[in-house]
Amino acid sequence: MAAFYRKYRPQNFEELVGQTPIRVTLLEALKQDRISHAYLFSGPRGTGKTSTARLVAKAIQCEARLPSGEPCGTCEICLLNASNELVDLVEVDAASNRGIDEIRDLREKIRFAPTRAKSKVYIIDEVHMLTKEAFNALLKSLEEPPAHVFFILATTEIHKIPETILSRCQRYDFKRISDRDIVAHLEAVASKEGRSADRAALELIAKTADGGMRDALSIFEQLSNEPVTVDLVHERLGLASSQHCDDLYGALGSCDTQKGLLLIERLHKEGADLQQFTVAFLGLLRQKLHEAVEQKKVQVLPKLLDWTNLFDDAWIKLKRASIATLPLEIAIIRATNTIPSETAPAVNKAPLKLVDPPPAPSSVGPVHAPSPRMVIGTPEVAPREVPTAIPEPAGLVVMHREAILQQLPKVYAALSNPAVRVSFQTGHLKSVEDKKLTFCFSSEFHLNKTRDPEALVSIENAFKKVLAEDVKLFLELEKIADDPLGWETVEEPLSNS
Ligand SMILES: [Zn+2]
Repeated sequence: MAAFYRKYRPQNFEELVGQTPIRVTLLEALKQDRISHAYLFSGPRGTGKTSTARLVAKAIQCEARLPSGEPCGTCEICLLNASNELVDLVEVDAASNRGIDEIRDLREKIRFAPTRAKSKVYIIDEVHMLTKEAFNALLKSLEEPPAHVFFILATTEIHKIPETILSRCQRYDFKRISDRDIVAHLEAVASKEGRSADRAALELIAKTADGGMRDALSIFEQLSNEPVTVDLVHERLGLASSQHCDDLYGALGSCDTQKGLLLIERLHKEGADLQQFTVAFLGLLRQKLHEAVEQKKVQVLPKLLDWTNLFDDAWIKLKRASIATLPLEIAIIRATNTIPSETAPAVNKAPLKLVDPPPAPSSVGPVHAPSPRMVIGTPEVAPREVPTAIPEPAGLVVMHREAILQQLPKVYAALSNPAVRVSFQTGHLKSVEDKKLTFCFSSEFHLNKTRDPEALVSIENAFKKVLAEDVKLFLELEKIADDPLGWETVEEPLSNS
């Protein structure tokens, strides 16, 4: 079934997908003819180790290597190489030739001069499968390789390779190929094969293949006799369909714990891969996040972020779950009962309205301004069925400098210790990075007052009260005191002391 993979194997380094640093380094070595007698390629399956090994072999054996280091692709040896007919390129699968006899046999053959090319290249795939004795026999060849012999070892399990072998080889670690690179390659193959494929479907295939090009091509090949759509990928790969994702999203939106749990149970019984389902669901959440940002619906962001965190946690835990459905069930229970993930910021517990009472009526007459206490927290929202009915969280302060500056007076007001407040007010907000707020002080005295552990805790608590976010404060002494940049004047001097 791996016809596409063979057919679209790279014929030169330029065609190699991903692995740019490795490609650059190898080409440079080939260009300068600084070629090692033993290479070791390690990395996940399908990431191009064998393809690269073949390219290195081709370039070593080519009779007219290009100045770029690439094989010429047109000499007799290159042509034989491309059609797998070159006897001087030997590929050994260590998984089925793992014993000492096979390696001894290999050592015997190594001594003989090459038949057609000027050198012999041995590619030993899955080299970690060799027995200890076989490794020892191989080591002897690696220690004193004949001048015309080159080894390229490949493995998915580098930790199983003895140190003695590692120290004899030039090592390259192959990384998973990015989804973007895989999708681009699949698109190219689709167009060459005249097959039709939706980009979203190819993205899903790339995700499923988890950085392995061989798997991605093999999945694509299996499906591409008909137009490749997202639904087709879901259907054929036993992935939960997008309908299931929508259903779960609806259940969360209406806080329907039971509905969510039943859905997971059904998926599990139907044999769906829950990890893939979770990836698909995270994809949906991501899409909703993007939509919310584009449409400036900031009020739904905390909820969506929290759900994303919860299901991202679940995805990690699914891999080693004692009960297959448990991580998703926990995520659903937390999400529908507004219990944020342990790692997630406490975005929904915002008592922001406490410090932001509703405007009092400006008209004269009896004033019935509601007590601020009446609007603490999130108002109860009746469960609704539509996914868009996400209960709006009480408050959201986007973590950037301007927004924080605006909230600063409230933070000052929330500080109960006047001495701490006075000292802290002399600092100015220099930068906001993630949730790290850096304040600069021109006075060492005030810096030290603020830096006091008790003071720091009370200030961070004040931020939490106002922003509903856990922030971390960084305080520094400003060398040049006359930098007015970012100096925040407090309009209401909090002079109740
Ligand atoms: Zn050539």
